[in-house]
Amino acid sequence: MLKDEDRIFTNIYGLKDKSLKAAMNRGHWDGTDILIANGRDWVISEMKASGLRGRGGAGFPTGLKWSFMPKESDGRPHYLVVNADESEPGTCKDRDIMRNDPHTLIEGCVIAGFAMGAHVGYIYLRGEYMREREALQAAIDECYDAGLLGTGNKCGWDFDLYLHHGAGAYICGEETALLESLEGKKGQPRLKPPFPANVGLYGCPTTVNNVESIAVAPTILRRGGAWFAGIGRPNNTGTKLFCVSGHVNTPCTVEEAMSIPFRELIDKHCGGIRGGWENLLAVIPGGSSVPVVPADQIIDCPMDFDSLRDLKSGLGTAAVIVMDKSTDIIKAIARLSAFYKHESCGQCTPCREGTGWMWRVMERMVEGRAQKREIDMLFDVTKQVEGHTICALGDAAAWPIQGLIRHFRPEMEKRIEAYTYRADSTRNTTLQAAE
Ligand code: SF4
Repeated sequence: MLKDEDRIFTNIYGLKDKSLKAAMNRGHWDGTDILIANGRDWVISEMKASGLRGRGGAGFPTGLKWSFMPKESDGRPHYLVVNADESEPGTCKDRDIMRNDPHTLIEGCVIAGFAMGAHVGYIYLRGEYMREREALQAAIDECYDAGLLGTGNKCGWDFDLYLHHGAGAYICGEETALLESLEGKKGQPRLKPPFPANVGLYGCPTTVNNVESIAVAPTILRRGGAWFAGIGRPNNTGTKLFCVSGHVNTPCTVEEAMSIPFRELIDKHCGGIRGGWENLLAVIPGGSSVPVVPADQIIDCPMDFDSLRDLKSGLGTAAVIVMDKSTDIIKAIARLSAFYKHESCGQCTPCREGTGWMWRVMERMVEGRAQKREIDMLFDVTKQVEGHTICALGDAAAWPIQGLIRHFRPEMEKRIEAYTYRADSTRNTTLQAAE
């Protein structure tokens, strides 16, 4: 279990004062100028040493990503863009950072901006995040007043930070769709390459990072990459915000050590499973786009990137959705199919057509109004969507269904049998009545 002194987010529940002065008293903004004075190479090498993997879902090493930015400007400005379009169902961690601990993020932006040679940063907020924007803007204003942001600031790196509010489309959380939206265009993903580190915002070198990835950077640099790397296990290091929802007794967002076993996470912070551990059916461990894992496999699993990948699922955003035995698991996954169908931007055919097709079949599967062989056909279609689209939304729509079929096929077949039996009984009764 994570020790209190190792927590990076000191006000994640908003129980303390979130002003700049109070944040400074808690250790934020301490020696930011010294960190910057150590130079870009030092910052990047410490970030690499920490083993931090991106907290937005993909888990790409953050230090490596920062190092992709050109070392020297070719005349084009560099940009830092923070992806705060937190829209993955089940995910609610960045919201708490922005609302309650905004200075972790702002200080992180200055340091990350320095590491990538960017003098301007944008935080792209999810459309619904009104209170978060207000809190963040108030904190940014405080920083300008205190001389921590802007030209000639006390940190030693000229940096301006702007907030931009999205309009509520899930797909704008995809980094290139986000850049399109930020440029004032329709939020549709771009083909890659070119990658944003070469051609990003307004055609300039850009790095897009998740809120949590940026917000943990200052503490990592202050305490050293080795400190962060000492938490968790190799390749899955550091502290992580888990947002646990669903059928637990006390759902919450909590900062914990990476690789904490699932059972320990739930017992220590969420008051256990509703109705006890025997009542656990399945868990979606990383936000709605990762495949569901049945109870017996998840209970003792370390909650990290590699362990969950071995279970053919993923840590994703660490949005842990817990489902007890009262859940209609087919209906739950069908609801996710409806979500992805609704959020598809429609650019590529496998996603535009496939998400709708999968959703319609899933709706029939909920009732059992299908043939058993259609389960195989449905799986086959998910495979044709997966990996054949411009962005990962196609995969995100396919994986939950694959997880369902992999683990709950008998449940689906039982429902089809029950529907067939009901239909046959009704037909016989009607025939008998007619005779
Ligand atoms: Fe748009 Fe879907 Fe293609 Fe992504 S995969 S670009 S959301 S159509």
